[in-house]
Amino acid sequence: MVAWDLCVLGAGPAGYAAAMRAHDLGKRVVLVERGRVGGAGIHSGALSSKTMWHLSNDYAIAKQTDRGYRAPGGVEASYSSVTECVRRAVAERRALLDHQLEALSRPSANGGVVTLLRGEARFTSPYTIEVKKSDGSCERVEAKNFLVATGSRPRVPDGISIDGDVVVTSDHIESWSHFPESMVIVGAGVIGCEYATMFANFGRTKIHIIDRQPRILPFEDEDVAEEVARSFEASGVTIHRSSKLERLAIENGRVEYVITNADGKSETINVEKALVSIGRVPNTQSLGLESVGVQVEKSGNIVVKDAQSTVPHIWAAGDVTMDIALVNIAELEGRYAVEKMFGLEPRPIHYEALSAIMFLRPEVASVGLNEMKAKEKKIPYRVGVVGNRLVSRNVAMRATRGFVKLLAAKDSNAILGLRVVGPQASSTIQGIAFLIHMKATLSDIDQCVHPHPAIPEGVQECARMLLGRSVLKPDVFGPEGLLRCGEG
Ligand SMILES: Cc1cc2nc3c(=O)[nH]c(=O)nc-3n(C[C@H](O)[C@H](O)[C@H](O)COP(=O)(O)OP(=O)(O)OC[C@H]3O[C@@H](n4cnc5c(N)ncnc54)[C@H](O)[C@@H]3O)c2cc1C
Repeated sequence: MVAWDLCVLGAGPAGYAAAMRAHDLGKRVVLVERGRVGGAGIHSGALSSKTMWHLSNDYAIAKQTDRGYRAPGGVEASYSSVTECVRRAVAERRALLDHQLEALSRPSANGGVVTLLRGEARFTSPYTIEVKKSDGSCERVEAKNFLVATGSRPRVPDGISIDGDVVVTSDHIESWSHFPESMVIVGAGVIGCEYATMFANFGRTKIHIIDRQPRILPFEDEDVAEEVARSFEASGVTIHRSSKLERLAIENGRVEYVITNADGKSETINVEKALVSIGRVPNTQSLGLESVGVQVEKSGNIVVKDAQSTVPHIWAAGDVTMDIALVNIAELEGRYAVEKMFGLEPRPIHYEALSAIMFLRPEVASVGLNEMKAKEKKIPYRVGVVGNRLVSRNVAMRATRGFVKLLAAKDSNAILGLRVVGPQASSTIQGIAFLIHMKATLSDIDQCVHPHPAIPEGVQECARMLLGRSVLKPDVFGPEGLLRCGEG
């Protein structure tokens, strides 16, 4: 048996991107996948949920009555037609990945080849894995290098049983047949809040969110989390803040849950469905990693140093390392690991300029530090906030809720981070991600010619305000809460 140059375990964003980078380098790669190519980057994950979010957002906008138009006969949606559209989006993206795998299964001019092998992988020796196929047969694969990119799955708390219909995780939610009339979401992190947003946008479901913390999105600054919470509450979502879930069970085909609130009183509530979203755990439990010397933490994540595990020819990328669970990071880590293992000298991944989006209403996007993180790291900063009501494009869009918030180093004015709460937040942070990467300062934003009218003009105005030269003045709009400067 000729050993492959690289065997990748898992064809999610990390594994797929890694295999493609190894192909660039003329390597012979076997990509092992037990489920669906694309992983949670596509299925029951990033792409599927974002498709549903867009549909729900379009629907909510179409239902608005402040825009001078109304759809004749009203706007209607059924859950099955929404999920059908989600399935089409997923299938399109999946077909694209499959098409490329098919093409690259034939050796390229540089010798690169990627072979997809379907089945469940497990290490049997440091240089060998066994792949168990759906027909029960097994195939042995030998390789010089391995990349473990087997991703993660929803965490399930003790004492709650998931039946996949009445009580679900994000893995099952797309298989519901209708909009539930009511649901409880256990966990107020990003995934829980995103689904709360989608169901609230469709307006057919009474939503309850159980949050152990005093506020949702506890990793974000309070003003960001409060803007989102206000929007939830305005659309009828109940947030049980500082609440402890005592019991959640299926009773007569519905969900009954008991919580203890901050005041010590307990409450029993009955809803149609429950979504449990309290984080994710790495898929490392049955890979035989410990038997070949790879160190795995108690929480299940593979211990890595610069993408390399404790066994030098076994690498890891994406959710299995569980530091950050995002598609963009998984892909970067997969590509980085491949470049390192084949002797290139890639630039280290710049985690400081990490960009992330939360698909809420309003949309929230972040890059770099927020105030909480800056304080934690003891980095002196100045902060500026500009309300979207002051930005022409927001006014034109009739979407003036939210704000942009820019952080810069107190001594040098170097840009440290940005939060955008409002439409097009995800596109707006991109320019700032680049500027942080380039170690730019507030003056660079001030002097750059921005398009008009455009959402990033709010960021420019924010930089100018911190430099004491904004067009609209804090003395005038500060008292109205639309312009604000501070430091920490
Ligand atoms: C509901 C939801 C929404 C999300 N939204 C976003 C978002 O908007 N933006 C964002 O950046 N991220 C988002 N994420 C996170 C993102 O999907 C993950 O961080 C990303 O998919 C991780 O990529 P990965 O390759 O590490 O793992 P995965 O995507 O989990 O892929 C791992 C693959 O390995 C396979 N596998 C597992 N074990 C084995 C084995 N033993 N043998 C062979 N194959 C195996 C699995 O079948 C899977 O295909 C979301 C996740 C969820 C659940």
